Amino acid sequence: MDGVHPKIIEDALKNELNKEISFLNTELNSLELEIELIKKAFHQDFVGPRDLLPNELAIVATAEVKLFEKMIESAFVLTIKTDLKISEISGNVQTIRTKDAIEKATTAVGSEEIALALPGLLFYRDILAPMYNLNSIPQADLDFLPSLKFNIFRYLEAEDVECPRLLIMTMFHNLKLFDSLRLDQLRLYRFLSLISSRYRNVPFHNWFHAFNVTQTMYFFLTTCNAQHLLRPLEILALLVATICHDADHPGLNNSFQTKAYTKLATMHKKSVLENHHLLHACYALSNPECNFIQHLDPLEKDKFMRYLRDFILATDLSLHGIILRNMKESKKNISKQYQKANPVLDSEDLITFMCCLVKCADLSNEIRPNKIAKRWASMVMQEFLRQNQKETDMCLPITPFMDPSKVIIAKEEMNFITNLCLPLYKTLEVILPAISIAMKKMNKNLDHWNSRLNHFYSVEQVQTASDQSIWERKQVKDTKQKVSEAIGRQVSHK
Ligand SMILES: [Zn+2]
Repeated sequence: MDGVHPKIIEDALKNELNKEISFLNTELNSLELEIELIKKAFHQDFVGPRDLLPNELAIVATAEVKLFEKMIESAFVLTIKTDLKISEISGNVQTIRTKDAIEKATTAVGSEEIALALPGLLFYRDILAPMYNLNSIPQADLDFLPSLKFNIFRYLEAEDVECPRLLIMTMFHNLKLFDSLRLDQLRLYRFLSLISSRYRNVPFHNWFHAFNVTQTMYFFLTTCNAQHLLRPLEILALLVATICHDADHPGLNNSFQTKAYTKLATMHKKSVLENHHLLHACYALSNPECNFIQHLDPLEKDKFMRYLRDFILATDLSLHGIILRNMKESKKNISKQYQKANPVLDSEDLITFMCCLVKCADLSNEIRPNKIAKRWASMVMQEFLRQNQKETDMCLPITPFMDPSKVIIAKEEMNFITNLCLPLYKTLEVILPAISIAMKKMNKNLDHWNSRLNHFYSVEQVQTASDQSIWERKQVKDTKQKVSEAIGRQVSHK
């Protein structure tokens, strides 16, 4: 950055911002926007908007540039919210000078509007990190990586986003994907840095949920033997889909997006959020610095992209019934084929099977040990309560299962397990018998919730819990009380 006058940087960035905005202004009108954008990401040999940046700006991230990033982000957010004209936005870029002003601008427009925020411009700081150290992963975590006992909350509590990225690198290594598909390790690491930075700080749909789903997929592939039924390209697509499947999730579901007429809902007619997550995955891959699949041949690349699209869109719960029905039809063909020495799978059957794996991984909180499952349940509930508050504030129709005056958590969890999770896992069991370990855990959790139907886990308790689960909070409180009582006794003895 030495020798480059800040004014020149400001002008260059403003210029790029204007280019991006005029591009988006013309494109946003199209009903097929998502298809167009994805096509661009797919077919321009993975060259994305970042190429518009002058090189010298992309490689140096000084405090000045970081400030501009923020300014541009805020300015862009304002354009989404208020449809300001470009001249007015340029005004904003100039006036937003201090950190306070930036924060004010961001909070004023509401974080759920910060979507599709100029990926090309915002990403370069994230992809700079070239160093990673796989030896820094604790041995115990490596040992538990293929197991349901793996405890992710250690990372969540420490806000350690790096170790999950390194563990994902390890999964790729253990599954021999680097060699068999000639993947670029450094680019994969940058891709993971980039995509993890796209996850927001929301109670449930955050980077740790994405990692949890990825680790469950690793459990299916290794402990449940799914890797022996699939080719490397398919294993790769399954892992990448789980990594990206909730990128930039605002913590407000599809029905909220539609009810509130958000920008996202006008862009994507169906599977609003899932299309948005997919778009983030495509953008990340379209960045040349992060395109770790550049050595795949064009046919493989196309296949990979089709898988990625199908798998991420399959996580839309409104498609649950269709996927379950397809899986029920496909499972006999698939298991028959897999009993042969050289199985030949019909491609639709194979895609259904893999979509089902992704969905099961996404719905895997209740296959964990009870203590972990309860904690995820409280995080889901916190996100629901947040949406409920938003719906109330905006006078939107209230989503019934998020209404604190009506919800009984144990009952919701039981419905979730019985109606959504168990039927799906049962269809997989025919093909992957080892998945029965997971189903046993799920049934155990079902018993737990059943015994708690009239118990004290009220919604209010969840509401008051912040980062820890209410159950653990209660324990902490009990311990604290015991300690203070003990101290009190000691004092009175003196
Ligand atoms: Zn998810």
